[in-house]
Amino acid sequence: MALDNINEFIRNTSNTHSQNSWNIRVLKNICGHKLPDGIFHENQTILQADATTMWVRWFVESLCSPTRYIEDRSKNEAHIFQDALKRINDIFSSSPRPHREALAELIAKKVYSDVRSEREIGRSFATKEQKIKLITSSSEPRCWICGYKFNENAIDAFLGKRTSNPIQPPHLVDIFRPRGIHKNDLRIDIEHIIPVSRGGQAEENLALSCGWCNRYKSSKTSIYDVTSRPYRVKFKIGKTLHYELPNPFWTVRMSATHQTCQHYDGCEKSVKNAELFVSLSNSSGSPNPTNLQVVCSAHDPLNFDRFVSTDTAKEIWSNKRKKIKFDFNEED
Ligand SMILES: [Zn+2]
Ligand SMILES: [Zn+2]
Repeated sequence: MALDNINEFIRNTSNTHSQNSWNIRVLKNICGHKLPDGIFHENQTILQADATTMWVRWFVESLCSPTRYIEDRSKNEAHIFQDALKRINDIFSSSPRPHREALAELIAKKVYSDVRSEREIGRSFATKEQKIKLITSSSEPRCWICGYKFNENAIDAFLGKRTSNPIQPPHLVDIFRPRGIHKNDLRIDIEHIIPVSRGGQAEENLALSCGWCNRYKSSKTSIYDVTSRPYRVKFKIGKTLHYELPNPFWTVRMSATHQTCQHYDGCEKSVKNAELFVSLSNSSGSPNPTNLQVVCSAHDPLNFDRFVSTDTAKEIWSNKRKKIKFDFNEED
């Protein structure tokens, strides 16, 4: 990693006056600079792939919006193809016909897949047999995203056993992933890792997740589907003061993508055999997506400090949107 490249990049792209971000000349200058290696730390693949995916999605949807087709279930891929082709013929009239048709085909496929995903939301799609198979196929059923080991009561409830005892909330929770401050956090949810609409039909595609991961994952697939800033909130971990919390979806995205401990020496732990945690690479830095890493408990720099009482976690997270007043000029 060449530090002089990073220095030059920051010098050339930082807006020293915030109003510069409203100036098109300044913006043109910024977009002319190539990203240097090293600014994403360990998470370059996720951050760049998610940005590319988002730009592709925006381009596709600028030609043909999936939202127009969700309600009318008689509309299928062929309708979308026709509509997209009309628009493409207008915009790219000078391109050869086969290229225009190929683009319409790509767009129809992508948009229809998204439309089908939206139409599926809220449908339950696992039989009792499939549920039993998922629970018994592993000696210790765990959340596929974070590796949390499901407790007996949650398994009973998932399988619909009448004798099931209520799932008890934990006394201590991880401050970054406070599983247990909401009622359904510890239950078992089932999901298609690849949505049915994208070809994810087979049983191997079904996976179990904890209620917490499932809720924050929802149908989001890109790190940029949520805010770009960590939440501001002041709290203590051990003796150290922290000022921010990561967006829960970043935690989900990092865990689900890595699924193994990222310790630099290599580590055997994965979501198949352990619960993994999201920690900070640089402990005094902001918990943004460049500074998050997935670790097992043995390699977790925060170790036991991350665990706080459920009530404390509830209070910290409920304060998260409130801005800290740093000076008198700041509003609200
Ligand atoms: Zn989980
Ligand atoms: Zn490890």
